[in-house]
Amino acid sequence: MHGEGAPRRRSFWGWGWEDRSPDALALEKLARRVSGALGGELRAAPAPSLEAARVPPSKLEVPAALAAFCTADREARIRHTYGRSWRDVYRGFCGDFSPAPDLVAMPRGEEDVAQVLAWAEGARVAVVPYGGGTSVVSGVEPAVGDGYRGSLSLDLSRLDRVLEVDTVSRAARIGAGATGPGLEAQLVPYGLTLRHYPQSFEFSTLGGWIATRAGGHFATLYTHIDDLVESVRMVTPRGIWDSRRLPASGAGPSPDRLALGSEGTLGVITEAWVRLQARPTWRGQASVRFGSFEAAVAALRDIAQAGLYPANCRVLDPQEAFLHRVADDGSAVLLLAFESADGPRDAWLGRALAIAAGHGGVSAGGAGGGGDQESWRVAFFEGPYLLNGLVQLGVVADTFETACTWDRFGALHEGVTARMLEALQAVCGGGALSCRITHAYPDGLAPYYTFIGLGRGAHALSQWEQLKQTASDALLDFGGTITHHHAVGRLHRPWYDRQRPEPFARALSGAKRALDPEWILNPGVLVDPPTGDTGPGVDE
Ligand SMILES: Cc1cc2nc3c(=O)[nH]c(=O)nc-3n(C[C@H](O)[C@H](O)[C@H](O)COP(=O)(O)OP(=O)(O)OC[C@H]3O[C@@H](n4cnc5c(N)ncnc54)[C@H](O)[C@@H]3O)c2cc1C
Repeated sequence: MHGEGAPRRRSFWGWGWEDRSPDALALEKLARRVSGALGGELRAAPAPSLEAARVPPSKLEVPAALAAFCTADREARIRHTYGRSWRDVYRGFCGDFSPAPDLVAMPRGEEDVAQVLAWAEGARVAVVPYGGGTSVVSGVEPAVGDGYRGSLSLDLSRLDRVLEVDTVSRAARIGAGATGPGLEAQLVPYGLTLRHYPQSFEFSTLGGWIATRAGGHFATLYTHIDDLVESVRMVTPRGIWDSRRLPASGAGPSPDRLALGSEGTLGVITEAWVRLQARPTWRGQASVRFGSFEAAVAALRDIAQAGLYPANCRVLDPQEAFLHRVADDGSAVLLLAFESADGPRDAWLGRALAIAAGHGGVSAGGAGGGGDQESWRVAFFEGPYLLNGLVQLGVVADTFETACTWDRFGALHEGVTARMLEALQAVCGGGALSCRITHAYPDGLAPYYTFIGLGRGAHALSQWEQLKQTASDALLDFGGTITHHHAVGRLHRPWYDRQRPEPFARALSGAKRALDPEWILNPGVLVDPPTGDTGPGVDE
């Protein structure tokens, strides 16, 4: 536990708060659970120390013009080196902070952001926008190549205020650095909520959500941040990008749609107007068990196509249900929830349960349903802390996610499962793969996979790389997307490049060239810096 009055600190190498990482007893329990499932003897290595972390000296002096909010401090650089994928946590655990930024800036407002960009252009320094640092795709890692004199991590955490609330239209102007809990707390006095809950909610930021097109945990309707954004304000190296507040507009391609998912390559998001909702006053939930995953998925499709739009309709395969302590009898489970700020929705819940029953689902009833939902909720937010423990135990484990149309799901799931089990056998001598369906649309679904296998000491990183490559190839080969909500970053680039139309790639390079002609913003993400003599921004 952190001491009375001492500021609570985030782990410099793993997920979340330092005081919530598994302690010795929790590690022992985790080791027994994993050994039970995978075999092998597991012993936890001690957590690393900040003093022993290896970080190269900074290549840059703090420029006088930025001195009021910029530092080359060793700890600040360490803390801004990685996001929080398994690979990031593993490298942090090993004490390897070699890609650390040379400088870290914490702008106090938009003018500071503009000043950083102006200086970086002249100094040929790459700028990597940093929100909450929860990227799982190397989006904040300053691996920017040799074309720069150094790199600067631009931490937006000081821009964390709710700046204006329009209670008539139910919208708010919010600083990009506001975290989930931070912005929700500021909205409480208005009785309003953004209602966007990614699993990383505690630490990720509004700017990060917009830059990565994040997905919240509500399973239908307004789940991507895209649908909640009314307008976006960005500082670009070539001026301010400020879109008009509108509920909808047919005026040509949408500027907001280009800012959404731009991953820090086109500009630095400083604030956005977002759509709010009244806080729900009615909630109803249920849990339904099925004899097979296929039957649960079939029920999910019918519910998604019935126009009922539950807040939650998540399917857990038997392994997921077991891991999240929801069911241990080999059932697949459908978790259903409806909520409303405008009176009961019992009829909607009743209709969804009737559809599920038509596919052989057996409802656990009101109280049972609530218990399952609670087990799920606790395990959902505890899960990321377990990752720290798994890395300490030398276990290779990660998640990957996708989306596909309903007609392709059977082949995709079968293909991904077969290839991953084969790869786990070859790379780890065995392992486990589980699947849950996190989001459902009338025309398709978003499956989310977790894999786990025993690491072979110093080979763990290359084992992970082989498994990640297998998973990503399979997603594209079987008609999925490389990501439903985890973004592209540096990690998913090869598969994103395969997925997008070539003329679109050129159009994106053109936009980048217009806004960031010196290519200083997050190089290596989405589009490559110009090479050779082909001219600025031409990726050939
Ligand atoms: C345990 C865990 C659970 C997760 N669960 C989810 C989930 O449920 N749903 C989901 O969508 N994602 C999830 N993620 C991934 C991650 O949380 C999201 O991508 C999130 O949107 C990143 O927000 P952030 O503020 O941490 O951004 P960062 O990680 O700091 O940055 C992400 C990217 O956005 C850019 N960026 C950040 N802020 C700005 C800005 N103001 N202007 C311009 N560019 C910017 C960065 O340069 C980087 O490329 C999870 C990650 C972890 C580790």
